[in-house]
Order: sequence, then structure tokens, then C-alpha cells
Amino acid sequence: MTSKQEQSPAAAAVPDTVQNYVGGEWRSVESDDGQPLVNPATGETLAEVPYSTAETVDEAVQTADDAFEDWRATSPVDRVQYLFDLKGELEDRQEDIAQALTREHGKTLAEGRGEIRRGIENVEVAAGIPNMLREGSGNVEGIGTNMDEHAVRQPLGVFTAITPFNFPAMIPLWFLPYAVATGNTFILKPSEKVPLSSQLIFEAVDAVDFPDGVVNLVNGSADTVNALLEHDDIAGVSFVGSTPVAQHIYETAAEHGKRVQAQGGAKNYAVVSEDAEIEQSVPNIVGSVYGNAGQRCLANDVVVGIGDAYDELREEVLDDVDDLTVGNGLDEDTDVGPLITGESADRVVEMIEDAVDEGADLVVDGRDFEHPDYPDGNFLGPTLLENVTTDMDITQTEIFGPVMALTKADDLDEAIEMVNSTEYGNASSLYTENGAEARKYRYEVDAGNIGINVGVCAPMGFFHFGGRKGSFFGDLHAQGEDAVNFYTDKTIEIQRWYSN
Ligand code: NAD
Repeated sequence: MTSKQEQSPAAAAVPDTVQNYVGGEWRSVESDDGQPLVNPATGETLAEVPYSTAETVDEAVQTADDAFEDWRATSPVDRVQYLFDLKGELEDRQEDIAQALTREHGKTLAEGRGEIRRGIENVEVAAGIPNMLREGSGNVEGIGTNMDEHAVRQPLGVFTAITPFNFPAMIPLWFLPYAVATGNTFILKPSEKVPLSSQLIFEAVDAVDFPDGVVNLVNGSADTVNALLEHDDIAGVSFVGSTPVAQHIYETAAEHGKRVQAQGGAKNYAVVSEDAEIEQSVPNIVGSVYGNAGQRCLANDVVVGIGDAYDELREEVLDDVDDLTVGNGLDEDTDVGPLITGESADRVVEMIEDAVDEGADLVVDGRDFEHPDYPDGNFLGPTLLENVTTDMDITQTEIFGPVMALTKADDLDEAIEMVNSTEYGNASSLYTENGAEARKYRYEVDAGNIGINVGVCAPMGFFHFGGRKGSFFGDLHAQGEDAVNFYTDKTIEIQRWYSN
């Protein structure tokens, strides 16, 4: 596809107003409050996004709660048949979903296609739940005379997931498949900035024909979230978003007696060793920083070159940055799409200017980028700051824009000290061909995800995904075995038989 903004008919058919999906049917949202959904590349309004009220949330929770007992009693073997069907329905729609998320978020179509694939991967993993439920259950025979002890996994009730704008299709699917496969019922509250992908995912849910009330969608903003957090019949909350909101979710959900896993923001560094294959590594480094226009919780927006590696790294990076094409993600030649809102672009410009005021050198300046075909887009050109230090805000605060902060270190110890200087611990990458360096990095860097010659170390669905320090609040992470532990409780049963 080469023409501008070409799209499939289904992806073009955006509802005027985004709807909820509750009790197995689409429902209009009665609310005086909401916001427009705006294509960040074109400025075009795509739809209206209503904010569900506490009353609407209550209806959804009651519906999900009413569905719980029957769903729990449904064999896991039967429950996963819905997931096999969901995988097929999502695959049938994956191009439409990729296009919808490009239109609402701005990322490139290639990124959109990759994202929905990673989401479907979690449906595939959760389809193996009968086997996964065996892990951590088990039994011990003969703990006393004629006595045995068993641990049995059980679902807890209604779970909700509250998701961010930067991965509109993938992140809801970190939660939905595991929550329902384990026998819970589920309510998704997607980001109000990108509700369209969820509309398409729920068209797939609707086609699968889950029993009414098992899988529900509620649109809204902070008040909608708070109504979910405070509702007595919500058993647990999964959250992904910024750190201040993650902390609020963690505290409020816990105060209301719920399980909670809250993934927050990040500040990730990449380190390039003298033992790195620099020429091969640079496209990966540049992809990590500028892909998704930098709006990625795994973006390594600070890059540290060690010793003699620095000059070659700088030269190669500048060459690659020069080749990046900024534009509408629907145009196939685009590498860097727009930022989600004009306010986000303004915030990033302010960060760049503060860094310069604090002493950084602005080597590539994307602040004044304007796209000739999309004058209303929230674009920023790729930007590169050099000579940053760890006492600057640019090295301590998530940029979430197409900006690299480049700096040098004398050795790996100094580089690791820089990496660990932030209050976050989501991810970090080391570029090296030296195994001992790689081991030291994994051992000493305080982050949940470490990439060795991998700039975006997003765990596969069969591993957990989560950070540390200010990047995560809770203990059990998303995906894989952690998800099974989060969505189930383990009941102990001790048996004695007198008649033996
Ligand atoms: P955000 O915190 O603004 O919003 C996330 C969700 O929280 C949305 O659904 C929103 O409606 C809700 N929300 C916002 N303010 C709220 C409030 N005051 N009370 C209750 N709910 C509220 O995050 P965002 O801007 O959509 O997403 C970007 C952030 O998410 C970045 O910091 C990024 O690093 C982080 N993120 C983290 C991970 C991870 O795995 N750790 C993954 C993706 C994104």
C-alpha cells in the first residue's frame, strides 16, 4: 500500500460515538461528559468518547458479577475454546485493528501490525490455561495418618484493567485473555485517548459469543476509573500507565481491599560498550529511541557510549537519525509518527529547552518540524541532545517523544551508575559482544527487563512483563505465569478419611 491514508472499509467505519460493551451487547453511554477522539497526524476528529458515570460502571460490574458463577463453573477446557475462537476473530481483523490504531494513535502501520500480533500472542498463551492452572497447585500425600493436603487454584470474581494510550491494542490483551481463561469475568477501561482499537477488539469478542457479561468494555476517564476502584464487587485491578496514576491506583485499590498490579512509567538507558558491534547495533538503538515516536515504556531515551565507542556511535547515530522520515503512520514510508496530543509535543519541546538551559548541546533540533501535507499533526522531528549529565531532568524524566539524550562514560561501572541513577526500573539495554560484561550488567542494573543487543526487550507472552522501583507497584506482573497467579487464589484443602 503506498497511497496516503488508504484504509480498509472496516477500519474506516468509525462509530460517531464510542460505545460500551456490557452483558454481551453494545450500549450507548449516557453521559454529559466526554472528549473528542482526534487523529494526531491530521487533527481530524474521528469520534466522540463519552465518560461512563459511576452508575454505568455499577451496571457493568453487576453484570460481570452476575456472570461469574456460571463462568467459574465452566470447565477450563471449554473456556479456552472461546479463546481459540477469539484468536481467529482477531486475526481476521488484524489489518483493520492495525489501521484503526494508527489512525487514533499515530504510530506507523508496521508498528500497529506488530502490536496486534503481540496482543494475539497473549490469547495464544492463555489458551493453554488448563495446563498452566496445574502449576502451583499440586498435592502432598500422607501429611498425617490418612491425611493429604491439596492446593487448588480458584478465580476470584470480577477483574478490571485500566490501560494507557501508547499500545491501544496490545496492552488490553495483556489482561483480558488470562482473566477470563482462569474463570474470572472482566471489564476493560481503555485509554480515552485511543478507544477505537478496543471497539474493534470487542467486535471480535462479540463474534466469539462469550456468555453474556463475561467480557465487558467501559469507556471513560479518571472518574470512571475511580468508580471501578471503589466498587465493592471488583476483586482486582490491573493497570498500566504513568507512575503518579499507577501509585494512585495501587493505593486506592488496596484501600478498597482489592488485588492490584500497577505498571508505571519508565526512564531507560542504553549503554554501548567498546566490545559492541556498533554498526549493526545502531539501527536497533535508533529504533528503540525514535520508534513509536518515542512513546514506548521500553524506549531507551538516554544512550551512553563507553570510552572509544563514543565517537563511532555518535557518527553512526547521526547518519541514521538523518534518514528518519516523519509523517502520518498510514503512509508506508513513515518511520516516526506524531505525538498523541499537541500538549504532549509542547511538553517534550519544553524538556528539550530545559536541557539546553541546563547545559546540554542540541545537535539535531526537531522542534520546528512541520509536515507539508499534515499541517495540523502533532509532529516533532527527531531530536538529539549531547553532553547530558545525570543531574539534568532530561536524564531522569521519561521523555516520551522522539528525542535521544547522548552521553559518554569512561567504563562500564560508571555507565551502570548512570543507569541506576533514576527512580525508575523498567528496562535497560547493553550493546556488547562480551559475555562477562553482559552478565555484570544483568546482575547490577536495577531494572525488570534487560536487553543484550536488544533495544526494546518486550517479554514474550509466556514470560512476565513488569518493572521495578517507580515503574511498578505490586508483586505479580502481567502475562505468563504471573498472570495466572494474579488472577487466581490458591485454596488449601486438607483431607482425612477415618474409614481407611
Ligand atoms: P496515564 O497514566 O495518563 O493514563 C493511563 C490510564 O489511567 C488511562 O486509562 C486513564 O484514563 C487513567 N487515568 C489517568 N489519570 C487518572 C487519574 N487521575 N485517576 C484515575 N485514572 C486515571 O498514562 P498514559 O499517558 O495513557 O500512558 C503513558 C504512560 O504509560 C507512560 O508513562 C508509559 O511509560 C506508561 N506505560 C508503562 C508500561 C509498562 O509496562 N510499565 C507500558 C506502557 C505504558
